[in-house]
Amino acid sequence: MAPAESHRAALSFPSSNGKTGLIAVSSTSRLTCPSSCPLAGDQGCYAEAGFHTRLHWDRLSRGQVGANAAAFIRQVAALPAGVMFRHCVAGDQWPDPADPLRIDQALLLRLAKATRHLRAAWSYTHFPMAPANQATLRLAATKGLVVNASTESRSTAAALVRQGIPAVCVVPPDAPAVFRHEGVRFVACPASRSGRKVQCISCGGRFGLPLCAQAERGFVVTFPAHGARAAAAAAHCS
Ligand code: SF4
Repeated sequence: MAPAESHRAALSFPSSNGKTGLIAVSSTSRLTCPSSCPLAGDQGCYAEAGFHTRLHWDRLSRGQVGANAAAFIRQVAALPAGVMFRHCVAGDQWPDPADPLRIDQALLLRLAKATRHLRAAWSYTHFPMAPANQATLRLAATKGLVVNASTESRSTAAALVRQGIPAVCVVPPDAPAVFRHEGVRFVACPASRSGRKVQCISCGGRFGLPLCAQAERGFVVTFPAHGARAAAAAAHCS
């Protein structure tokens, strides 16, 4: 069966993104974004707010750049050993053709397998954390690709971490860098903290793994709402 147009993805290595550093990054078509994402469109989506990211995403979503899923996975498998890979800077996981709110498990696991030679591989998702999607995330993590559940609710994020699902949470711009909520520790992305010169490539220290690539980290990574749509994103925080 021909890959769905929503399965288009684009790989970039090394990235020119100042927040990530010289790692491999990718985006998936806007058509992958599930209806469960509360930030979609003008509701605070980071990718929509960034001028260059949005232009690239528009072209990818129109099919003008990028590759279908099979070709994209081959490109990831051909990345040099030991590099880091951040999947879905824009876009989300590939949806199951039979259910738009379920991650395509088989395809994600093929991608995860293609990342095994990399030092770290991680991503994010706004798909609902129903049992099937949780199971897919757990399986992907065992193969080396850590997909973080993206949330805007501290209680939801804390509950996911207690269940062993890596979670990230958008918080208001004035939230403390480190705090506890319902017994779970929340730690701000170091790249978001003023005065720090951390990028994804240096996150976690010289011998550690970037925070978002740590599958069993036991704490939530927070992203203070920022940029042109900070107010819209912050309005979803609870
Ligand atoms: S916590 Fe680390 S890995 Fe995650 S986005 Fe921030 S700098 Fe990158």
